[in-house]
Amino acid sequence: MSCDVLVVGTGAGALTAAIAAHDAGAQVLIVEKSDQYGGTSATSGGGIWIPNNHHLFEEGGDDSLDDARAYMAVMVGNAVSSDRIDAYLDQAPRMVRYLEDHTQARFAAMPYPDYFPEQKGGKRGYRTLEPLPTHAKILGAEFANLRPPHKQVTVLGRICITMKEGRAMLTQAKGSMLLAVKLMLKYWLDIPGRLQGRRDRRLTMGGALVARLRASLLDRKVPLLLSSPLTELVYDQDRVIGAVIEQDGQKKTITVRKGVILGAGGFEHNQALREKFLPKPSSRNWTAGNVHNTGDTLVAAMDIGAKTDLMDSAWWAPSIKVPGDDRAYILFAERSLPGNVIVNKAGERFANEAFPYLESGYAMYQADSIPSFCVFDATFRHKYPFGPLMPASVQSDDKLPSRICDLLFKADSIEELAERMGVDAAGLRKTIEKNNQYAATGRDPDYARGDSFYDQYYGDSHSGKNPCIAAIEKAPFYGIEVFPGDIGTKGGLLTDATARVLAEDGSVIEGLYAIGNTSSSVMGRSYPGAGSTIGPAMTFGFIAGHHAAGS
Ligand code: FAD
Repeated sequence: MSCDVLVVGTGAGALTAAIAAHDAGAQVLIVEKSDQYGGTSATSGGGIWIPNNHHLFEEGGDDSLDDARAYMAVMVGNAVSSDRIDAYLDQAPRMVRYLEDHTQARFAAMPYPDYFPEQKGGKRGYRTLEPLPTHAKILGAEFANLRPPHKQVTVLGRICITMKEGRAMLTQAKGSMLLAVKLMLKYWLDIPGRLQGRRDRRLTMGGALVARLRASLLDRKVPLLLSSPLTELVYDQDRVIGAVIEQDGQKKTITVRKGVILGAGGFEHNQALREKFLPKPSSRNWTAGNVHNTGDTLVAAMDIGAKTDLMDSAWWAPSIKVPGDDRAYILFAERSLPGNVIVNKAGERFANEAFPYLESGYAMYQADSIPSFCVFDATFRHKYPFGPLMPASVQSDDKLPSRICDLLFKADSIEELAERMGVDAAGLRKTIEKNNQYAATGRDPDYARGDSFYDQYYGDSHSGKNPCIAAIEKAPFYGIEVFPGDIGTKGGLLTDATARVLAEDGSVIEGLYAIGNTSSSVMGRSYPGAGSTIGPAMTFGFIAGHHAAGS
């Protein structure tokens, strides 16, 4: 077997790389470890953070390269070389334009604010693009091999929704009940789809993104081999000239004429690597990443002398693990809703609950609060979904599956709840009293919850004086353990501005590229806005594909 460019992995970044390399004239082969393509990308929100994208301007937003640079400077600091950041800011909008002009990929700008919109260069919306929904028919028989969405980005574990629809339902926006009914009717009235199975054929979020890219590769007849993990890189005379893959228990060598692009995700599901590199405690049970992301290609590249960076870092996010599920639920947005607090063993808050998820994860480690406990009352439970819980108005406690019910601490008083959770009762009582005062005044003098425009995006605008704070006063009271989970690791192979992997001595390893979570992130330790993982994965995929093909 041979090719010009070998693309390893099938996340959105890898598929973009394959398109770019093919369109630049290379003969491309894609290999994927699992029996489904799409990786975490297909199970995700599919949002991409692209400063200066053309849809932002169509929506009347404002942006400039200077603003984007200023914001990245605040966010990333000096953790990443400026030429990589410049390459990202320059190429990201071009990548989107190229895909829309030449492939089936389509996007819309979201009013989603940057995660720190008040910082220099931060924006209150439209840098995040959402893939437009599509129908499974664009994939034909290949729909069967598309990795299904994470349960948490669906309704009832099966009905696909857009980010916009998800936000409306979460925050109880006007018309959201009607919207939910419409989506369910649409799902059930897809008779051919229901006869085939339970999978929704309306594809949204990450599913739509990967489907649109995969369909574009089908148009180009680029071959993709499933169940074909890369196990080794072939390195000779200072360059990578091939790779070994495993198929049906047999090792096969692929000769590569131009370049190998590693887009095989992070090491979030490799417990040994987590323990070696990430802060402790650390568990693969807390990640929502794809179970096949075990850092194989990262290790293969390290074996030939590649340099790594940011290995102690992940895309942190508070998470809840439901027994029996292979991946955790991430509390992306629920923490912003009014009527909950997150506390440590002393029953004290230690951060703004509505923080962007990366910061919440850091906060748990900094406060040494693992697990933490999210506490809410009957009013909150009735109204809002929370991780694996539907609102009690839709699914009351007695209808919850036992594996979910068992995760909940429940009591008629705050003190009893504290005792059940093993939390200091006086501390928790004091925290709840303070929270209830803050709900009355609308201000949180401790952690400024609800002050940022970002906090408010997922708050409930119909609630009291602050969309993110409400009294916790109606029994029964609930608590649930929350862990510093992640949506993937963000340390990996150190690359240059063209995504080429660097060796320990800083020189380029010719013929080897890394993108997405296999590479160390261009965002450093930060998370500037929604789509900061897939946006760069696709942008550096675009760059790597062109470079490897020699254009
Ligand atoms: P992946 O998309 O995981 O792709 C890696 C692929 O490589 C997998 O298919 C894997 O099986 C394969 N692979 C692994 N090892 C090998 C091997 N040895 N050989 C061959 N193939 C291999 N990020 C955003 O930017 N925007 C969002 O809206 C967003 N929403 C999210 C929502 C959820 C619920 C979750 C869980 C995550 C979300 N993320 C989001 C995070 C994002 O999905 C990931 O960080 C990103 O998809 C990682 O992309 P990747 O290309 O590095 O890896």
